[in-house]
Amino acid sequence: MDCLFCKIAAGEIPSTKVYEDDEILAFRDISPEAPCHVLVIPKIHIPSMDGITPENSAVVAHIFEKIPEIAKLGGAENGYRVISNCGPDAGQSVPHLHFHVIGGAKLPLHVFPEKE
Ligand code: 5GP
Ligand code: ZN
Repeated sequence: MDCLFCKIAAGEIPSTKVYEDDEILAFRDISPEAPCHVLVIPKIHIPSMDGITPENSAVVAHIFEKIPEIAKLGGAENGYRVISNCGPDAGQSVPHLHFHVIGGAKLPLHVFPEKE
């Protein structure tokens, strides 16, 4: 399948790995927005949060069990935020489910800057 994150999961495209096991991979975002900006993906192809089903949700639970460890490994020692962009309005640019783990600095509170 011609999917960027499937290729990264398979090791066909290099990435800066933070954590890996049989089911998931965590690697640094190529264009980080904070000192810790790690993407966590299932190795199986799920297009987005809209593609989570009873059949594949165990890997999503596994991701969330591992996120605290991944955040620390990524350099978020004092808290972090988890974001998953789903669909066009959210600006999802890679159609393989991924969770941004962002931290390592005080983060702005609001999605819309005019609320700052
Ligand atoms: P989205 O916009 O879909 O929520 O997030 C996709 C993220 O993937 C972006 O933050 C983007 O910087 C990152 N990204 C895109 N291509 C690559 C790549 O080849 N390697 C890595 N490490 N990150 C990528
Ligand atoms: Zn994929």
